[in-house]
Amino acid sequence: MSSIIAIPAFSDNYIWLLPNGDGSALVVDPGDAAPVEAALQEQGLTLDGILITHHHFDHVGGLKALKEKHACVVYGPVNPAIEGIDRELGSGDRVTVGDYHFEVISVPGHTLDHIAYFQAGDVPLLFCGDTLFAGGCGRIFEGTPAMMHESLSRLAALPADTAVFCAHEYTLANLTFARAADPDNEELKARETRAKALRSEGMPTIPSTISLEKATNPFLRSAESGLAEGLEAAGRDPGATPVECFAELRAWKDQF
Ligand code: ZN
Ligand code: FE
Repeated sequence: MSSIIAIPAFSDNYIWLLPNGDGSALVVDPGDAAPVEAALQEQGLTLDGILITHHHFDHVGGLKALKEKHACVVYGPVNPAIEGIDRELGSGDRVTVGDYHFEVISVPGHTLDHIAYFQAGDVPLLFCGDTLFAGGCGRIFEGTPAMMHESLSRLAALPADTAVFCAHEYTLANLTFARAADPDNEELKARETRAKALRSEGMPTIPSTISLEKATNPFLRSAESGLAEGLEAAGRDPGATPVECFAELRAWKDQF
């Protein structure tokens, strides 16, 4: 895992570069080809696989140019709107790419086509695009709150030590909101302090872990009483169920 490289792209995206033992590599969600080419050169790696999580431009924008230049196989969701997918993947599919063995988890909500890639093992790995963020979750553009809640629950059920690689550095803004929603959470306070220190040195706050997200991410904690209290204190209706609480948290964050 330590060999996984964050390639910054646009203002706040990360394209993840996964080296294989033979000098080839995979990238996840190459929204832009240029920084990927630069990283491959710098690391002395060739590209032989691309993993796509969903159709948004900041995740697929570099696909065509990379595919033209490199002999690589492109894996992604079933969505005709994405040009250049060689292997369409759906829920429960297992796929070996280079040194990696992924299980595909369907996580609709942010978009309807969104999938995540999970690898079990000593250090389990999760590449979850714009579904689960460090301290937050993606906006619900195409699905429903119930759908997004179900998708996040699926990810929350993964092993506690799973390293979570999301696609954006949104952590500080997410944690500012999390502190408003869950003000008495001590672990969250400590996380915010660590994240601020990392960002002040220009370091990524990613990957996080499933256990850290479950302890501090309000969008995985809508069943906890503290979140309902946080919503009430903000003059919002916490609803009667975890899904209703989640929907209200998401609506609040959208305006925060
Ligand atoms: Zn997106
Ligand atoms: Fe994105």
